[in-house]
Amino acid sequence: MTRAADALRAASARIDRLDAEVLLAHQCGLARLQLLGQPDCAVDAAAFDGLVARRAAGEPVAYITGSREFWSLDLRVTPDVLIPRPDSETLIEVAVSHFIGRAPATILDLGTGSGALLLAALSEWPDSQGVGIDESAAALAVAAGNAQALGMAARTSFAIGDWAGTGAVFDLILCNPPYIECAAKLPADVVDWEPHGALFAGDDGLDDYRLLAPLLAPQIAPGGLAAIEIGHDQSESVTALFVGHGLRVALHRDLAGLPRCLAITK
Ligand code: GLN
Repeated sequence: MTRAADALRAASARIDRLDAEVLLAHQCGLARLQLLGQPDCAVDAAAFDGLVARRAAGEPVAYITGSREFWSLDLRVTPDVLIPRPDSETLIEVAVSHFIGRAPATILDLGTGSGALLLAALSEWPDSQGVGIDESAAALAVAAGNAQALGMAARTSFAIGDWAGTGAVFDLILCNPPYIECAAKLPADVVDWEPHGALFAGDDGLDDYRLLAPLLAPQIAPGGLAAIEIGHDQSESVTALFVGHGLRVALHRDLAGLPRCLAITK
C-alpha cells in the first residue's frame, strides 16, 4: 500500500497526469475529484501500476476503466465499440434545437455502437422511444446493457442492420458513421485499439455516406430531422451527396468551431 499522492507522482512520470488521476480514482472506487481531496488515502500500488502499464502501452483510458461519460451519462464501453467523443454531443445539441417545444416521439440511431447518441437523446425526451441499429452484435450487447443500466430498457430496442434502418419512419435520426480515410494516420491509441469498422470508410472516407444518402429520405418523418456526424473537412462533399438526393442540409460546428454535424430535413 502507498498514499494516493505518492502513487500519482510516480504514475505521472510515465503517463499523462489527467489519465493517471482517472485511473487512480478508478482503482480506488472514487470519483476523480473525491480522490484529489484525499491525497493520504491508501492505494494498492501494485494493482494501480498494472493500470498505468496498460495506459503506457497505449490502451485508451476508457477501455481500462470500462466507462466514459457522454452528455452527462455514464456509459460502459468495451473494445467492441467506439469510445464516445465530446464532438458527437454536437448532434444532440442540434437535435434539441430542432425540437424546441415538442419532442421527437421516435428516434433511430444508425450505427449505435455503445448507444451513446440514442441514450443521450432519450435522456432529453423521457416519453420518446428509440431504436439502435448496428452491424455488430457485440456492440448491440454493449448498447443494450447501457440502456438497462440507465433505466431506459423499456423505451429502447436494438437490432442488427445497416443504413436502411428498420423500414419505418422516425422523427429524429442520429448517425455517426465511419468517416476516416483508410490511409489516414491516426494516433496509435485509436488505430491499435478502437474497432476499425466504426472508423474507416474507404479511400476518401465517404463510402458510408454514399450508401446512406439514397436510403435516408424515406426514413425521415414529416417535420423530422436527421443529425449526421461528419469529419471536419467533409462538409462540402457530404452535403453534396445528400442534396443530390433531394434533401435540405444545414451545417453545424462543434465546440472547437469545426464542421461536425449536418442537420438534414426533407
Ligand atoms: N471522430 C472519430 C475520430 O476522430 C471518428 C469517428 C468516426 O469515424 N465516426 O477518431
